[in-house]
Amino acid sequence: MKNPFVELLNLFYPNLCIICNEPLNKSENQICISCIQQIPRTHYHKLSDNPVEKRFWGKVNIFRATSFYFFHKGSPFQKLIHELKYKNNKEVGEVMGRLAAIELMESADFTTVDFVIPIPLHPKKYALRGYNQSECIANGISAVLKKPVDTSSLVRVMENTTQTKKSVYERYKNTSGIFEYKQGCIPDNSHLLLVDDVLTTGSTLEAAVEALSAIPGVRVSVFTLAVA
Ligand SMILES: [Zn+2]
Repeated sequence: MKNPFVELLNLFYPNLCIICNEPLNKSENQICISCIQQIPRTHYHKLSDNPVEKRFWGKVNIFRATSFYFFHKGSPFQKLIHELKYKNNKEVGEVMGRLAAIELMESADFTTVDFVIPIPLHPKKYALRGYNQSECIANGISAVLKKPVDTSSLVRVMENTTQTKKSVYERYKNTSGIFEYKQGCIPDNSHLLLVDDVLTTGSTLEAAVEALSAIPGVRVSVFTLAVA
């Protein structure tokens, strides 16, 4: 139902696109369609053995993996992720999660997901930011897939320090064991969709897959909003 007061308010203070600052129309939320269309897409969910899946080969067992966008420095996507991580804009995560999930449904593999699991932040970092940006994305996916978000089964027990100057082996040592699976929350043979914002080295996701592998018969798939 249209609220005349909200309509009037929008006339004087229209919602603006977070990327181009142009007024949004009624069907748009956070980002205008023209900005969304400028972010380069991977379409990897339609492709088995895609480059994102290959990153996990020989490291951990995954069922499927995909990233929605390509991440380039200075691209509109960078502004979007900045809003999501540092500007307290939780809604943009949910909007992007919904958009991605509508397309994920094109792939039969992703329609069999039972639980959506965001990569947890360390409690200290969570307290600082006040929310988990991956959980915002997971909420959007969950709304479309109609499968619950689980934020209690995967627990972050260690902080990982900044990774950029470390070797591959040091990074491995640094991330292995940063998550623990809290037993009894997820039924055997479930299909889990791990959700993160941007895929960079992949070591955090690997550690999470490793922890969830404790569940008998589990299949773990990975979704990130973008791949660097
Ligand atoms: Zn725009």
